Amino acid sequence: MDNDNWLEAEVIACPSCGMKLYAVVHSPFYDCDWLYCDSCPIAVEVNWYDPRFLNRFHEYSSDQIESILNPCECGGRFRFDSPRHCFDCRVEVPAALQKDLLPYTGCEDGRREVTDADRARFEQFESRFLRRHNIWRN
Ligand SMILES: [Zn+2]
Ligand SMILES: [Zn+2]
Repeated sequence: MDNDNWLEAEVIACPSCGMKLYAVVHSPFYDCDWLYCDSCPIAVEVNWYDPRFLNRFHEYSSDQIESILNPCECGGRFRFDSPRHCFDCRVEVPAALQKDLLPYTGCEDGRREVTDADRARFEQFESRFLRRHNIWRN
């Protein structure tokens, strides 16, 4: 890869509150997809090697995956093509469409080293906005 920004990473601002956000194409090297809620900033992580996922579908469609996920705690649904939402004011962020949306802590664009405080903030973000457990309907 010659282009050092082939995942189109960019720092953007929320169109409503101005919160700095980091948008990046989901890396094809991850073993998972993130599906975003259609009405709030929460996402679920669907691991491709999740046994429940593998047992159900070898060949699966996006619709099938969406239909077996639990609804979001806000009542919304997790979809592949949901709009992204600001973590603070929750408006839609069109600039992040089709990308992963993350909080910008100041190091995502490589301007400085990642600190422990950044890691702690990211863990806080994950626990608030990323669901990895009990994601499937029974
Ligand atoms: Zn906002
Ligand atoms: Zn939601």
